[in-house]
Amino acid sequence: MVPMIAMQIDAPGRPLRRVERPVPRPSPHDLLVRVAACGVCRTDLHVLDGEIPARYPIVPGHEIVGHVMEAGAAVTGFAVGQRVGIPWLGHTCGTCPYCRAGQENLCDHPQFTGATRDGGYATHVAADAQYCFALPDRFSDAEAAPLLCAGLIGWRALRLAGEGRRIGLYGFGAAAHILAQVAVWQGREVYAFTREGDEDGQAFARSLGCVWAGGSTESPPALLDAALIFAPVGALVPLALKAVCKGGRVVCAGIHMSDIPGFPYADLWGERQILSVANLTREDGTSFLEVAADANVRTVIETFPLEDANDALDRLRSGALKGAAVLVPQS
Ligand SMILES: [Zn+2]
Ligand SMILES: [Zn+2]
Repeated sequence: MVPMIAMQIDAPGRPLRRVERPVPRPSPHDLLVRVAACGVCRTDLHVLDGEIPARYPIVPGHEIVGHVMEAGAAVTGFAVGQRVGIPWLGHTCGTCPYCRAGQENLCDHPQFTGATRDGGYATHVAADAQYCFALPDRFSDAEAAPLLCAGLIGWRALRLAGEGRRIGLYGFGAAAHILAQVAVWQGREVYAFTREGDEDGQAFARSLGCVWAGGSTESPPALLDAALIFAPVGALVPLALKAVCKGGRVVCAGIHMSDIPGFPYADLWGERQILSVANLTREDGTSFLEVAADANVRTVIETFPLEDANDALDRLRSGALKGAAVLVPQS
């Protein structure tokens, strides 16, 4: 049988290495999926750098679009040949207090695709069918990939931001370029904050309907109702707090951030809130995929051959990408 090809992280801090191994056998609850595209997420850099819990060696990648090759004996609801999306949330226990309270994103015993179980930087992947999604037809494979983390965890962050009209987005990459379109479609005013002097990024944000774009240390022309921080930079938290109105929220949407510097209590005063977003629930996924289709979201992507995963990660790290990087295995 033709082997599976994967780009694997052997240990934190090492570049990904191309490996060949047998195609995985799906367990009774799994789908075996032939990967058509896999998005590159900042979380993959945190796995590479050893900044979040993961097992090694690991095949990263949790924005997976592919087609079902085989379904385990206990799987229902998916057919061979069907296109599916595989997200970050790979499995939950179903019995811990969080799972029982409908907060499976906070499960005490979770598995995460591309961190604790092998992900989509590969030609094949096995995934628990109960955590896979059907995908709207209107997106191509590569266009759909960034929806599966940048889009849907961004959507969770936007919902936690509340119903306010003025929304700030700090870090205008894969997630923000999708969420800006959703928030504009909802009738909100979107303010984009980029790295200082990133005029291309600011023009990109305005082209997607943002009413204002500037550097992250600039004050927006009006106080914001909420700010979402997608960049992994703790120093943005006090800056965003200064940009939100009384009662406003600062939502930290990344899985890892550098330390947050101290700031005067007066900047938090006025019932301002800071909160983090952890993972996703399956309901976040199904509701977001509907919204993405209704809002006619257009993902801006740059595709790379699977074997060029290290280049794609380098470009993400240096801020050289416009939109989202997507790996495509050669057939
Ligand atoms: Zn649980
Ligand atoms: Zn991600």
